[in-house]
Amino acid sequence: MAKADIAVFPGSFDPLTNGHVEIVRRAITIFDKVVVAVLSNPSKSTLFTVDERIKLAADEFSDCKECVEISSFDGLLVDFMQGIEARIILRGLRAISDFDYEAQMAHMNRNLSCEVETLFLTTSEKCSYISSSLVKQVAQFHGDVQKLVPPKVALAVKQKYINRK
Ligand code: ADP
Repeated sequence: MAKADIAVFPGSFDPLTNGHVEIVRRAITIFDKVVVAVLSNPSKSTLFTVDERIKLAADEFSDCKECVEISSFDGLLVDFMQGIEARIILRGLRAISDFDYEAQMAHMNRNLSCEVETLFLTTSEKCSYISSSLVKQVAQFHGDVQKLVPPKVALAVKQKYINRK
């Protein structure tokens, strides 16, 4: 199958989950390159720093360095996209409940730049209930998150909450 272009997969990735990983791994069969764009927003409080989130993603995709790039951005996503000459925003859809917010973002981004297109991949059933916030809620009470996130992320999340005790 012929591949096309660069897709930018933006998000907080606080932390990276199996749902995110699945979207990226499916996307690299469609696009030449997927840029995982980690949002660095100082006004949003996150469990992991932007450097930690980048490192966890880089570790996860170390087997496909030529087609997955990890980057961070702040400010407007469309400005970041313009900087790397990318047109396609990739987002994941879990359920209809994601749709309203995602459609709003897609309209706003197209409004800001008529060059960008947002494309969606729907999640598989096994990842459809996974979210970073749920992972944090479970881990906070020392619940097992190993089935929800990559092994290194599970370890890092556990460590965070041990340190916070
Ligand atoms: P944001 O704060 O921008 O929503 P997230 O890190 O929560 O950042 O999500 C980034 C992208 O990954 C979004 O498009 C989101 O819908 C998608 N996503 C999150 N969890 C899953 C999942 N379990 N399966 C598929 N896509 C997901």
